Amino acid sequence: MPQSEDRAFVEGLAAVLGRGRLKTGADIPEACLHDWSAERGGTPLALVTPDSTEQVSAVLRLCHAAGVPVVPQGGRTGLAGGAVPSEGAVLLSLAAMNRIEEIDTTSGLMVVQAGCVLQTLQEAAAAAGRSFQLDLGARGSAQIGGNIATNVGGNRVIRYGMARDLVLGLEVVLADGTVLPMMNRMPKNNAALDLKHLFIGSEGTLGVITRAVLRLHPRVAGANAALVALSGFPDAAGLLAHAQEVLSGRLTAFELMWADYYNAVLAVTGRRPPLAEGHPVYALVEMQGADPDGDRDAFQAMLEGAFEAGLVRDAAIAMSQREVDDFWALRDGVAEILSHRATTINFDVSVPLARIGDCVDDIRAALEGRFPDLQVIFFGHAGDSNIHLVAGPIETVDPTGHAIEAAVYDLVRSHGGSVSAEHGIGLHKKPWLSYSRTPAELDLLRRMKTMLDPQGILNPGKVI
Ligand code: FAD
Ligand code: ZN
Repeated sequence: MPQSEDRAFVEGLAAVLGRGRLKTGADIPEACLHDWSAERGGTPLALVTPDSTEQVSAVLRLCHAAGVPVVPQGGRTGLAGGAVPSEGAVLLSLAAMNRIEEIDTTSGLMVVQAGCVLQTLQEAAAAAGRSFQLDLGARGSAQIGGNIATNVGGNRVIRYGMARDLVLGLEVVLADGTVLPMMNRMPKNNAALDLKHLFIGSEGTLGVITRAVLRLHPRVAGANAALVALSGFPDAAGLLAHAQEVLSGRLTAFELMWADYYNAVLAVTGRRPPLAEGHPVYALVEMQGADPDGDRDAFQAMLEGAFEAGLVRDAAIAMSQREVDDFWALRDGVAEILSHRATTINFDVSVPLARIGDCVDDIRAALEGRFPDLQVIFFGHAGDSNIHLVAGPIETVDPTGHAIEAAVYDLVRSHGGSVSAEHGIGLHKKPWLSYSRTPAELDLLRRMKTMLDPQGILNPGKVI
């Protein structure tokens, strides 16, 4: 667009939003120019912070008519580059839409605006005597709209599912400004196709999420957790099956940390190791329940059974909520590891559970063989088939990172896995999407994009 048209367009935005809800040029905060990934984008035309669905709709109508790209932004904690600006785009921040509209404890739901921060929702549910069970390390900054747009996974998928499983209803604004109210409040509703699922995990490419109806669960009395040392992945899989059987549905997390991750997180955080270093794999096992005494006994009996079955080398049981938090601090310490390392590539792959051990061994061997100076750490939500690995420094080893990515994704594909378990495709994994989706699926995704966003204004260049 020529500059004079830019100015006229921005004036049009200001007219529908008011000046306080629009920034341009150097007034756009630096934090809005990137997310948590290393991806860099273009120069945005403007940043808008609408405070109602009507304002979001008005912005999109103007952008649709003028063919101006729109990049929805939540808390910008995304790790795939989905929220980084496209050249000349309007950045549409949901930050001002942060109201909890209703908590209905009888129906077990809450109605919220998309810009609510996840931790705020967890705390509001707890204050109402219920729990909202989505949880991840970025809880203090990530917004529920971003969580839903990326179908976020996190720490308790094994029991409560991904974000998709916690969303009952959605309100979405389409690219042309049409408001699509789908604020269903029932767990069961089979009145034709459930359209909300089109938008969950669509990474801002099909519509802007403005409100949601979220599913609440009963309050839990507390957590029992143990850090367990294991001889390798086969025993981890054995322990997982044992814990699921014995605790029958009460297992809330099963996180694995390979020795390279465990050593790195202890070094960077300076925390006292709950278990000695030197074991091949560590599991963080957590169970939540409503009966503190009975739960503790059941959890200890589960661990004793695992020792007797020869699955466990050593274990530390948390004796207080503070110790539970200390174990989680080791797992969440990945953020500190990343901030201490030079540029890294952060993978979030999934492979069928039975293949995880072989896949990790194959990836490690391939990377060590080809890139002897690369440091790699393995960890992840193994109970959900999801493995994270962080590889770096890439500047000196493989400046574009593509050779490292090819080595990892080739092996993930050969083990029948996915290039993204939970962080999404964004910009970062776009070249690798065809490793996990068939040509027929990609074709349908493109046709759906054209149907819902004929001008291609929503998050252009991302995902497909
Ligand atoms: P953003 O980063 O702002 O945006 C992410 C994508 O969603 C972009 O494509 C954006 O355009 C789109 N988007 C945002 N809001 C909307 C909206 N209202 N409507 C339409 N599109 C929208 N992810 C996991 O899955 N599991 C984890 O365990 C996990 N742990 C993390 C730990 C840390 C320390 C960090 C930094 C990140 C972690 N993440 C994890 C990744 C990230 O937190 C999630 O992807 C999160 O859900 C993104 O939310 P956000 O509000 O920050 O979205
Ligand atoms: Zn994760």
